[in-house]
Amino acid sequence: MSALKEYQAKRKFNKTTEPKGEISESESRRFVVHEHHARSLHYDLRLETEGVLKSWAVPKGVPEIKGVKRLAVQVEDHPVGYIDFSGIIPEGEYGAGEVKIWDKGKWNLIEGDLKKGSIKFNLLGEKLKGEYGLVLFKPKKNWLIFKI
Ligand code: MN
Repeated sequence: MSALKEYQAKRKFNKTTEPKGEISESESRRFVVHEHHARSLHYDLRLETEGVLKSWAVPKGVPEIKGVKRLAVQVEDHPVGYIDFSGIIPEGEYGAGEVKIWDKGKWNLIEGDLKKGSIKFNLLGEKLKGEYGLVLFKPKKNWLIFKI
């Protein structure tokens, strides 16, 4: 089963300009934060790993100040090609609204394992820089993100 099955099932690719995508063989570690003006504004953090973009919706945005903890709700894996996506998802479609790139860059794992629900990592973006923690606190999708 493709890791992108849920992503693809939610979207109609004749209506949205989002990429249909496929599993990537690249082992680069890029990240993007999308500013998503959906029903409610939120920010989507996406980390490139395992051939996909592991994704979290962060209602209040990725914190830029140490000590601030924010909820990050894990959502379906997105294709790596989504890293460059910006545009307007049409009314009536999944995630309808404007998507802009808020920040992007590289990330590095410092320690931990997403599968075990806890990582410490580094963000090297234009806005976001430094060490972060991402910890699952309520199975299976509620995480906390914070700057260390
Ligand atoms: Mn979103």
